Amino acid sequence: MINAILFDLSGVLYEGDTAIPGALQSVERVQASSLEIRFITNTSRKTRSKLLDDLRILGFKVNPDQVFTAVDAAKSWLQQRGLRPYCLVHENIQGEFSDFDQCDPNAVLMGDAAEAFSYNNLNRAFRLCLGGAPLVGVGYNRYFNSGSQLLLDAGPYIKAIEFAASVEATILGKPSAEFFHQALASTTAAADQALMVGDDVFGDVEGALNAGIQGCLVRTGKYQTGDECKIMGNFHTVDSVVEAVELILGGNC
Ligand SMILES: [Mg+2]
Repeated sequence: MINAILFDLSGVLYEGDTAIPGALQSVERVQASSLEIRFITNTSRKTRSKLLDDLRILGFKVNPDQVFTAVDAAKSWLQQRGLRPYCLVHENIQGEFSDFDQCDPNAVLMGDAAEAFSYNNLNRAFRLCLGGAPLVGVGYNRYFNSGSQLLLDAGPYIKAIEFAASVEATILGKPSAEFFHQALASTTAAADQALMVGDDVFGDVEGALNAGIQGCLVRTGKYQTGDECKIMGNFHTVDSVVEAVELILGGNC
């Protein structure tokens, strides 16, 4: 019995600037049902307010309280520890960290920094981590679908610093079980009464399964043929969010 549904955003509800066909109606169907709904995303190229604006422009009716972002989780983690992060993040979200003292950094925060992943910036992150600064990752995704092509995400760069400095990053966002549980704690559902719908077989589906949550992989967004064979465990694989919602509302989960 599913009582809560967790939707990934990019690749599930939209690709680039375009909604996935039928996604608007599918989200509306869930919102009109007795299911609790949450949106959880590792996107780190947009501020929270831009993310909400873009959803609204696409036509999705989303309550901001239903949206959990890895960027917010990373900010809280750094704030709770009083750290001064070197923020190797996308220029669009630098302002999200303006409250932090970033002089003489004692932590490294890495998101999907895109063009800011320069040799100089990566070396700075490497040297700080080698000197003992904790490495914090906004998600651990390998790549994502921009709408027209696959692009490298933060994961490969975080992995490079882990490798060079012999450290292990703390990952905020998916696939961290803590992140899934944080979103779920805002609902009345237990983990096994929730279903995560995502296009990333590792970050979304495997992460959810490891957190005790059911998983549903969609064949949109970054999905590549055969992705469903890359992880262990029982989960659904469907053509799109439309079929995922049919499955849930039909009581077949
Ligand atoms: Mg996605």
